[in-house]
Amino acid sequence: MTRFDEATISRAILDTYHKELTDRLVGDVLITGAGPAGLMAACHLARRGLRVTVLEKRLAPGGGIWGGGIGMCQVVVPDEALPLLSEMGIRHVAFRDGLHTVNAIEMASGLCVRAIEAGAAVLNLLTVQDLCVHDGRVVGLVVNRSLVGDSLPVDPITFSAKAVLDATGHEAVVVAALQRRGLLVSDGPEGKRGEGPMNATEGEAFVVDNVSEVYPGLWVAGMSVCAVLGGPRMGPIFGGMLLSGQHAAQRIAAALTNASTTGGARA
Ligand SMILES: Cc1cc2nc3c(=O)[nH]c(=O)nc-3n(C[C@H](O)[C@H](O)[C@H](O)COP(=O)(O)OP(=O)(O)OC[C@H]3O[C@@H](n4cnc5c(N)ncnc54)[C@H](O)[C@@H]3O)c2cc1C
Repeated sequence: MTRFDEATISRAILDTYHKELTDRLVGDVLITGAGPAGLMAACHLARRGLRVTVLEKRLAPGGGIWGGGIGMCQVVVPDEALPLLSEMGIRHVAFRDGLHTVNAIEMASGLCVRAIEAGAAVLNLLTVQDLCVHDGRVVGLVVNRSLVGDSLPVDPITFSAKAVLDATGHEAVVVAALQRRGLLVSDGPEGKRGEGPMNATEGEAFVVDNVSEVYPGLWVAGMSVCAVLGGPRMGPIFGGMLLSGQHAAQRIAAALTNASTTGGARA
């Protein structure tokens, strides 16, 4: 067995982590939330050669996937999401009526692996607390260690990027931070209209069709779309979340390409 001292183990973690953290302070796209929408967006943006960092407050990335429906590790996807599952190497089992089941643990793990393989960084235990706005445009995120949170008076660090995606699900925390500052006018509390009652078919379409840039530089995908724009909740069906992340990646990449030709969106 190789002989080593314990301090070297610690040094390996510290040196490697701090190098990655430092390398990621400036990039093309920052994604808040490593749920299905955020991870799918990260994978597709990174595959386009963009520098993408996902910030996740919890220990385990995967968001709501892990629990499936009422804590049973199976989620449901409709036919429309099968090409994305196939592309991610995630298996499914046909059920009926155009629906399929997917092992939730395979889906969460598979999305994480594909996003990282594509070149995205997924940094866990980092909580997005606030955002940076310059000249009417979101240009970065204010972040603290989740273990510090709001409980200790410790200053945060800041990441900057050309585009920010709020993929925090029901909480839509980045949009809420804008609203607290009165920068985003909305007819609902905290900048959010809130989700409507459950309608799985309409909800699945809503999270895809309404992916949008809600403020210059700030996009919403996944359940945040429903929270911000008032779409229906849809329960433990995840095709819309995956397609929403893919759609967000397409739209953000197109916007950044457009901005680079017109001189906008600096990081
Ligand atoms: C408790 C719970 C309740 C649910 N309720 C509903 C429901 O009512 N209706 C419905 O249709 N579906 C519901 N779902 C189903 C389903 O899980 C979600 O719709 C789906 O996971 C949303 O995917 P997403 O990618 O948009 O966000 P999520 O899967 O929710 O992922 C968001 C991620 O963002 C992270 N995050 C949040 N805040 C921060 C922050 N400040 N900084 C960094 N990261 C952050 C979270 O930890 C999480 O990993 C629920 C799931 C859970 C776990």
